[in-house]
Amino acid sequence: TKYHVGLIGLGKMGAPMAANIARAGYPLTVFDLNEDTKRDVAAATGATAAPDTVTLARDCDVIITMVPDGKAVRALLIDGGLADAAGAGTIVIDMSSSDPNGTRALGTEMESRGLKFIDAPVSGGVKGAENGTLSIMIGGDPAVIDECEALLSTMGGQLFRTGALGCGHAMKALNNYVSAAGAVAAIEALRMGEAFGLDPNHMADILNVSTGRNNTTEKKLKQHVIPKTYASGFSLGLMTKDIATAVAVGKATGQDIPFAESCLAYWADALEKIGPDADHTAVVDKPKS
Ligand code: NAD
Repeated sequence: TKYHVGLIGLGKMGAPMAANIARAGYPLTVFDLNEDTKRDVAAATGATAAPDTVTLARDCDVIITMVPDGKAVRALLIDGGLADAAGAGTIVIDMSSSDPNGTRALGTEMESRGLKFIDAPVSGGVKGAENGTLSIMIGGDPAVIDECEALLSTMGGQLFRTGALGCGHAMKALNNYVSAAGAVAAIEALRMGEAFGLDPNHMADILNVSTGRNNTTEKKLKQHVIPKTYASGFSLGLMTKDIATAVAVGKATGQDIPFAESCLAYWADALEKIGPDADHTAVVDKPKS
């Protein structure tokens, strides 16, 4: 028998993830703060739209959160009463890119209520969510992860067990830091090259078969940065949050991380100048300080 799944957060990632869960035959109940989004996703997937999260918690065996950050997850689970409404033994999976220390603190509160809690953030973007090929970085009790594997496989191509609760979230933040640093390197190189007289499309071709190749050179320069379409599906606000999370992980563990700190300063400056809702690839347009 398949779990009754609840999915909260139906944005750019949550909506296609809901479609894949429903397609795999799981009974699904959905919720989003945005009523229009909730109605549209329920209609598109055949899921039930929950009137509120407490009702969703009472109906579901497994509850997935796919909201902007760990603060929103805490607001839902603790302040919003979801954890108190869920029956003992309910599994909660936070697939948002949350702060790992906040996740560990939440874990204690979930445990005291008899709930099972794991972190399972994702990488692969909107396309990966649509195709069900996300990489999923999972932290928490292996026995609980075993119980979730089939469900997670409806959304992910690769499932990684990274360690204790919070390790998935730490891994995700560090992945996005590496991705963000690579983006800055590629974008600054493009600027320098163009100013010197190189053709940016040609530069992208050369980088992509040379040692400078990275995710930005392959998937963002010609697709979003050079044509100025800025439609990758991942916002500047969320990217900057992830780099800040990585820096916080580094500081909390006493690491010397000047490069990560300057990367964060670069993105935080863009955030201030062009706002959190801009696509993260629009960082190339940020005005000079
Ligand atoms: P999004 O802004 O498109 O969607 C977030 C959704 O959550 C919105 O529909 C919003 O209304 C809803 N929401 C916010 N607070 C809520 C609450 N308290 N209760 C119910 N609903 C709430 O964001 P997204 O791009 O889908 O990202 C979701 C998470 O996935 C973030 O943590 C992000 O960092 C991560 N992520 C995004 C991508 C990407 O490419 N977009 C890739 C990997 C991971």
